[in-house]
Amino acid sequence: MRIGIDLGGTKTEGVLVDSGGSVVSRKRYPTPGQAGYSAILDQIISLVYQLEAQAGQDCSVGVAAPGALTAEGRIKNSNTQCLIGEPFQEDLSSRLGRPVRIENDANCFALAEALSGAGRGMSSVFGVIMGTGVGGGMVIRQRLHTGLQHIAGEWGHNSINPDGPSCYCGQRGCIETYLSGPGFLADYRRLGGVTAVTPEAVVCEAEAKNPIAEQALDNLLERFGKALAGVINILDPHVIVLGGGLSKISQLYDSGPDRIARYVFNPVLETPVRPNLNGDSAGVLGAASLWDY
Ligand SMILES: [Zn+2]
Repeated sequence: MRIGIDLGGTKTEGVLVDSGGSVVSRKRYPTPGQAGYSAILDQIISLVYQLEAQAGQDCSVGVAAPGALTAEGRIKNSNTQCLIGEPFQEDLSSRLGRPVRIENDANCFALAEALSGAGRGMSSVFGVIMGTGVGGGMVIRQRLHTGLQHIAGEWGHNSINPDGPSCYCGQRGCIETYLSGPGFLADYRRLGGVTAVTPEAVVCEAEAKNPIAEQALDNLLERFGKALAGVINILDPHVIVLGGGLSKISQLYDSGPDRIARYVFNPVLETPVRPNLNGDSAGVLGAASLWDY
């Protein structure tokens, strides 16, 4: 049996998965981010032991972590600040007395969707996260492709506008500053919008023909098209699966492919763009699958 842990900014979730891929048990706690790194470690260890007690046997452990990982298993670029630079993988492995696999949450999402979600059976899958941030992961023949510097799939920090909003990574106009929830709302504000306070509300206003919200949604779709055409021109995946809060915007599937088609290096766009099937569980399921290959 396998254990998957999804360490999020606000909650930490653990699942126990049987050999058939079914979730046998699920536990969820608030992430003790304010209490610091050792409190986060303690909580993960406790979750593993609780799930293992239910399994009645030793289990493999995979963890989905926020942010990117260095080759040594340290975390960089995480919005859970207390994790940055810590030897997370080494500490978990030594405290649990077994090797632990760790991947960033976008890679776990892509893996789960490739193995048991909207990309199942496809020979290559690009998984996209459009949530608080923008990330992605690449799965080729059911295996994660992480790359030399462990940054494969990080399309969110390609800049599409050198004069655009500044990004925490040091660049301006990163895809993340436009295609994330906060980025979409900021664009609406720049256009003069004041009434909507969530991305969903901006979409509702656009559907009600509010011109500012319509422009914000049009900008989102246009940037989505340009940004994903860049990914397709390099990777040409067999399917693109969307996740994260903004992936619920239906226009991304209705009008999004036409926008991508404008910029892709092919007379037509054949790449399917699909919503994910695993929902909020994709990260934790992907983490449990890290030992499957
Ligand atoms: Zn950036």
